[in-house]
Amino acid sequence: MIHLTELTIAKARKSLDSGEFTAVELAQAYLEAIKEKNGEIFAYLEVFDDVLEQAKRADEMIKTGKGSPMTGIPMAIKDNMLIEGKESTSASKILKGHIGTYDATVIAKLKTAGAVFLGRTNMDEFAMGSSTETSAYGKTKNPRDTARVPGGSSGGSAAAVASDMALVALGSDTGGSIRQPAAFCGIVGMKPSYGAVSRFGLMAMASSLDQIGPFTKTVEDAEIVFEAIRGCDPLDSTTIPENLVLKNKKTTWIPAQGRNDGSEAKKIKIGIPRDFLSMKGLDPRVLENFEDTIKKLEAKGYEIVDVSLPYMKYSLATYYIIMPAEVSSNLARFDGVRFGLSVQGADVSDSYKKTRAQGFGEEVRRRILLGAYVLSAGYADAYYRNALKARKLIRKDFERVFKEVDLIATPTTPSPAFKIGEKMNDPLQMYLADIFTVPANMAELPAISVPSGTVEEEGKQLPLGFHLIAPYFGEEILFKVGREIS
Ligand code: GLN
Repeated sequence: MIHLTELTIAKARKSLDSGEFTAVELAQAYLEAIKEKNGEIFAYLEVFDDVLEQAKRADEMIKTGKGSPMTGIPMAIKDNMLIEGKESTSASKILKGHIGTYDATVIAKLKTAGAVFLGRTNMDEFAMGSSTETSAYGKTKNPRDTARVPGGSSGGSAAAVASDMALVALGSDTGGSIRQPAAFCGIVGMKPSYGAVSRFGLMAMASSLDQIGPFTKTVEDAEIVFEAIRGCDPLDSTTIPENLVLKNKKTTWIPAQGRNDGSEAKKIKIGIPRDFLSMKGLDPRVLENFEDTIKKLEAKGYEIVDVSLPYMKYSLATYYIIMPAEVSSNLARFDGVRFGLSVQGADVSDSYKKTRAQGFGEEVRRRILLGAYVLSAGYADAYYRNALKARKLIRKDFERVFKEVDLIATPTTPSPAFKIGEKMNDPLQMYLADIFTVPANMAELPAISVPSGTVEEEGKQLPLGFHLIAPYFGEEILFKVGREIS
């Protein structure tokens, strides 16, 4: 009997290696869980038909001593990462039936490592949203309270792990799409430093912000998945070679002992951007839970200090200029000629219009229009170029503060999971769900959301997340301190 609820990668690894159960048996247990729960939760858009064959190969690897930490680990994959021979749609109608012709680099790495892909998960269309409600294929429910959203855009991946329909999952995070759903579903979600993980084969949303990262039940597991997918990739020129990262120590986390000239080890310092936390709209229960977690860290010997990041509050506004600008450029490729849906019109231009009008949902169209506007002649200086300047200031804020502290902490979200339908007619309210997560994307920094407790609402325990941001390529300290929380 395999107890899925208690399983972590570390525990599964032990059992797989000792022969307590096989990868095939483990995969079967997850397939049964999916059969039982996916009808209601709708985390998966598709469950793959070759899961048991993949698991057999994993068993073979384990038997012949060729296994790695991920061998035989059943995973769910967000529907915006290409797997050769499998459908991949970004939960959009425009890509219905689109089959991947190659593996994304993260997929290739995990295949080599012997991971087992269970299926592809639901998401907001082209990763635009915070609730997984903009999917063209249906809404995913939050396993902790099925009247509520799982967060987004990687809501299917978060719900799959939270409901034990996968041991771990991959998501992508452009403004919070891993960390926010992780917080809403009560699991761990991590966004690596920009350039730590290859984006090759990830359908681009906003290329200067997108990163792939893990959903897991523990911080330890997040580190295992991160180690399996990270690394410089010649197919993504924005990935950073390890030796360059180490040379650039100014912006990389240096263990406290090193900073202290090897004399006495300093305490790890965690900075709290107090002025940012006094914003309107922050649920008082979220703040209370945050303060409690901070106290726990203090009791464990961490030093807590207030820090000021005056430009942080402009992150969301800046994001909603830079992101749509990149979205409108990236999504220009969906023209009915090269991929997916193709609707014939009177002439070429009419065919483009008809294909895009029928293929894209409302939120995607809104962002393409916004992006085209902020980039248009006459407005690009006022909007896009000013936003780039603001982004630089936000980045400098972090660089300055990281000379004094090792980490920055905030809540992950301003509220627990909201109800399905609650924010769908109010895009601005929806955008505010990412107020705490967007700054890390703007500054290219690694960040993690770790479950920090629950609040009760209508008889349900709704999870909250504690959010830590580390210096550029400071994943090591992110995991170290993250482990202390859950
Ligand atoms: N929710 C944010 C948005 O709608 C972030 C999306 C993401 O990270 N992919 O843009």
